[in-house]
Amino acid sequence: MSKRKEVDDRFKKFGTVSFTGITRVNDFIGHLEEGKVAGTRCKDCGLVFFPPRADCYSCLADNMEWFEVNGKGRLVTYSRLEFAPVGFQDDVPYCIALLDYGDFKVFGRIDAEMEERDLKVGMEMVTAANALPNGQLNYVFKKA
Ligand SMILES: [Zn+2]
Repeated sequence: MSKRKEVDDRFKKFGTVSFTGITRVNDFIGHLEEGKVAGTRCKDCGLVFFPPRADCYSCLADNMEWFEVNGKGRLVTYSRLEFAPVGFQDDVPYCIALLDYGDFKVFGRIDAEMEERDLKVGMEMVTAANALPNGQLNYVFKKA
């Protein structure tokens, strides 16, 4: 009998290129597979985290619950990438952006279907789970 511990490496499914296979927030991928983008909330002090964290840096508790990133965020800034890091060359050009949800901010990509001319700082957008052509998962920002 093998005593090898089963490895929870669901994070390998995240993004065009995944750099992290094993984390304590693998449920993030389970939620993406269900079409939900999720962050974590500290049950002790109420702080919310996106990207999700397993530990609260404020009160040091590891008492987290998941919450769904839903509703509208405001576009804080965006940038169009013409040159991409290693592994992302086939994806360019694309826009990266930051959405402000009030209690937290989400950094990510603008949906490839949107044109740069449709983007305006301050506009409302939503964060949506997304499946990439290679079977990987991520999330994108779409017009609200
Ligand atoms: Zn806390």
